[in-house]
Amino acid sequence: MEHDDNNSPKEPGKPGFPAPKGARISLIVFVSLIAVSVALFMFDGSSRTSSIPYSAFLDHLNEGNVESVKIVDQRIIQGKLNGKGGVSQEFSSLIPYLDADLLLRLKEKGVRIEGASAGMSPLRLIGELFPWFFGIFLIWMVFRQMQGNNKAFSFGKSRAKRYLDSDKKIKFEDVAGQKEAKYELLEVVDYLKNPQKFVKMGARIPKGVLLVGMPGTGKTLLAKAVAGEADVPFFHMSGSDFVEMFVGVGASRVRDLFDQGRKSAPCILFIDELDAVGRTRGAGYGGGHDEREQTLNQMLVEMDGFDTKDGVIILAATNRPDVLDPALLRPGRFDRQVVVAMPDIQEREDILKIHMAKVPVNMSVDAQYLARATPGMSGADLANMVNEATLFAVRRGREEVEMQDFEEARDKILMGIARTSLVISEDDKKATAYHEAGHALLHYYLDNADPLHKVTIVPRGRALGLALSLPEKDSYSRSKAWIDDRIVISYGGYAAETIIYGETTTGTAQDLRQATELARKMVCEWGMAEELGAVAYGQEEEPIFLGKEIAQHKGYSEDTAMRIDKAIFRILENAKSRAIDILTKNHDQLVKLAEELIRKETLLDDEIKELFGFAAKKLSKA
Ligand code: ADP
Ligand code: MG
Ligand code: ZN
Repeated sequence: MEHDDNNSPKEPGKPGFPAPKGARISLIVFVSLIAVSVALFMFDGSSRTSSIPYSAFLDHLNEGNVESVKIVDQRIIQGKLNGKGGVSQEFSSLIPYLDADLLLRLKEKGVRIEGASAGMSPLRLIGELFPWFFGIFLIWMVFRQMQGNNKAFSFGKSRAKRYLDSDKKIKFEDVAGQKEAKYELLEVVDYLKNPQKFVKMGARIPKGVLLVGMPGTGKTLLAKAVAGEADVPFFHMSGSDFVEMFVGVGASRVRDLFDQGRKSAPCILFIDELDAVGRTRGAGYGGGHDEREQTLNQMLVEMDGFDTKDGVIILAATNRPDVLDPALLRPGRFDRQVVVAMPDIQEREDILKIHMAKVPVNMSVDAQYLARATPGMSGADLANMVNEATLFAVRRGREEVEMQDFEEARDKILMGIARTSLVISEDDKKATAYHEAGHALLHYYLDNADPLHKVTIVPRGRALGLALSLPEKDSYSRSKAWIDDRIVISYGGYAAETIIYGETTTGTAQDLRQATELARKMVCEWGMAEELGAVAYGQEEEPIFLGKEIAQHKGYSEDTAMRIDKAIFRILENAKSRAIDILTKNHDQLVKLAEELIRKETLLDDEIKELFGFAAKKLSKA
């Protein structure tokens, strides 16, 4: 594709990169230095002084025109002449030879004589000092360079100030979807707007809220929106900014950041990539992680050290909550987690619309169609797609972005992200829909199962989809009937794939592992298999220092082991055939549900009931 580079516009959202402040200052210093030297040069030897030949001076002397002289270093003679109209004129002249008579003659004429040594003229001063200035300037530049490269020299001071966001305020309406996350964050906004209301009631507001979600789902955007809604300052720092070369630097930065926060309260401190500092302590090999640990410890100390009353709320983001040090998640720290999920089809449409509103888009562009055509894309991918499409349109010299531009942008991005993230083909999407529909439908046909909360084929983590049930109450013990049904639900995906495709996929691995684990516990820990009786087999697992395999003692005979395996097998086979049985009987509903899932990607309990016209909570058994 041909395009003219001169035409490429500045990418929206990436304003022209401003010169770093330091560099700008040095430029100003440099220019003014030159200006001053030039000015001094011009004014040196002020215009009224004229250089005259020595002979001319002697003539003036003879005529008695010389009023006074100053002899500089016996080399230069400067002085004043009596001008005609009483105006004195200054002159200066080089003394070409050792004039022994000069003094005598001057005395004869009664001229006032002064001696002087050649003081530094301003010009010479600059001339002498310039190399020094220049040297210092160079050293400074090198220093700055090093600072930029490995940050080793920017001790202690937090750079949070630089990240003080003074851009246009972002509001919740700029964030599409994320209803649940917004709902949770609204409380924080309320508090920041009116802390007194909460303090008076003695309510305890969470100090730290952790935003958890895959890259590009809008965590940073949401954090900014909280600040924007509450109209408070927003300090933005990345976890990796804390991790420095020298031990102690990160810790002092943390201290500094929190100090700044306290000073600007109410405000929001946002720590992006919390996992960069917050990884479980002691997890590294061979020590050498002192710096990170110190930083983390300092962060814990700071979080404990202040009160929410101060009006500082700490938001953090991560896509790896699993690697965080448990200490970070304890009450009084990041004790609240907000999941920022990948967008489903409706949310993708909304995100597209938000970003399309910023550029001129042709009427014919169908956001709904584009949302359908971009499964697996994150908010960041979609924003990027709109930008790419705009670039295509500009290169083609169009006034408006057209569908063709979007199609091309989509292909470009899909190819780009295919390497790194999950891109879902139509076939995969369909298979996932049937799989999840299988799990979901079983919830409605099993008496002892928890009700379904929602089912989605929007990928999260490594899972392609999810059927989430919603326990009616928190319970710490479960009945055998509940566990039986739970295992049947685990086989829902497997059963649906078997029924529709006649074979199953690798997508069932996690389900089978879960089912097997439950069945094993039924047999070995909970005494729920008649053939083995109410006996606990095997020992509690030791802490994993030696690795599970080595540490686990069996504590039962080979013969018992075989019987355990058989019992597990029986439970699982039983559950599998129950799942297949139920789904086969309700084949039509399975298809209907899967097709609806392909269309909408996420379905809530109510929507499914509506789809099937269920009035009651559970439908009558087939
Ligand atoms: P994260 O911090 O989760 O990696 P960001 O907040 O940096 O993601 O999102 C990157 C960009 O993607 C945002 O600046 C925004 O343009 C776009 N984006 C992501 N999610 C949304 C959303 N829900 N609504 C609108 N734009 C979004
Ligand atoms: Mg981010
Ligand atoms: Zn599954």
